[in-house]
Amino acid sequence: MPSEKVPFNRPCFGGNEYLYMGQALERLHISGDGYFSKQAQMFLEREIGTAKALLTTSCTDALEMSALLLGIGEGDEVIVPSFTFVSTANAYALRGARVRFADIRPDTLNMDERQVESLINERTKATVPVHYAGVGCEMDALNALAKRHGIAIVEDNAHGLFGTYRGRNLGTFGSMATQSFHETKNFSCGEGGALIINDSTLIPRAEIVREKGTNRSQFFRGQVDKYTWVDVGSSFLPSDLLAACLLAQLERKETIQSTRKAIWESYYRELNRWAERYGVGLPIVPKHCEQAYHMFYLLMPTLADRQAFIQHTKERGLMCVFHYLPLNASPMGEAQGASAGECPVTETVSDLLVRLPFFNNMTLAEQQRVIEGVLAFQPKGRPHPLLESRKNLATE
Ligand SMILES: *Cc1c(COP(=O)(O)O)cnc(C)c1O
Repeated sequence: MPSEKVPFNRPCFGGNEYLYMGQALERLHISGDGYFSKQAQMFLEREIGTAKALLTTSCTDALEMSALLLGIGEGDEVIVPSFTFVSTANAYALRGARVRFADIRPDTLNMDERQVESLINERTKATVPVHYAGVGCEMDALNALAKRHGIAIVEDNAHGLFGTYRGRNLGTFGSMATQSFHETKNFSCGEGGALIINDSTLIPRAEIVREKGTNRSQFFRGQVDKYTWVDVGSSFLPSDLLAACLLAQLERKETIQSTRKAIWESYYRELNRWAERYGVGLPIVPKHCEQAYHMFYLLMPTLADRQAFIQHTKERGLMCVFHYLPLNASPMGEAQGASAGECPVTETVSDLLVRLPFFNNMTLAEQQRVIEGVLAFQPKGRPHPLLESRKNLATE
């Protein structure tokens, strides 16, 4: 058995990362908003088709900016999926809002749009759909709800860059969207993010909030003759060194996305019959969604099978990992008034889901080893009823 491990993720710098980072040093401008930040922002604006993209130090920071821009505060409520990364919720809790958790759909594992309405009340300010695994949420329904109740949508698009819903780019549906360029995402500069602003009335204040509450951006454009403290804000700009690394990654968009597509499709093709035989769930991508190929997951029949699977693959040097714990059942979730048992689909999925190694420079041999490792595993449990039900749900 080969001794080399197949990691869950491995960073890949296959383009102009070294060249551009060297150039950033030579330009003697490695603080924020230098040449490479502007290039990366323009790239995102052009490719996504949005009014403004502002680089941030993380997706977490972009979410925090969205909370500041929406004026979220004490007494407000924000609806997020219970199956997400903590930052989706934390950004609003940090402003004093109460976070409400909607359960997810069993098919796409996205926030269940039908549950959102029951959580809306007069205090609701916003909802934050997460396009899980880069597959679009039901944005038609969510948009209609948001319009009817006058609430904002912020898309947490950490997984979904360059995915589409009904032909439209993810990240262009909400008044704002947030991107992550963390090491584990499709495009990475280690730690990084962006705030996508579709509602252009938010742009002037976004620039101020991002620049420590000052009108420094206007000053640099010559629109004011000195800059000063005009609003609340913080420091959300990444170094231009990181932007240089990011630009090199973004420029390889076609290669990176087509490589990830090939890896995803090969997993699906090779594991399909095994999954069918043992009642293992595979990702479901509705026809009207073009996914961003962020991850490949399995839903094992039972928690015991999931744990045995992680052990089995680990013994073969294959790093497979579980994902989010239900936020509604977390200590902070409970402090927000939620409790275990409220989001049964999330709670089940959280027990059953396992993610396979998936990264931009995964070799065919590495993927073959993972596939063989999976095929050698025989789940023993009776599939959870949720796995049967999800087959018939995918939306048209
Ligand atoms: C990765 C991730 C984040 C946080 O991204 P950072 O850039 O690490 O702050 C937020 N939301 C989701 C859904 C994520 O996957």
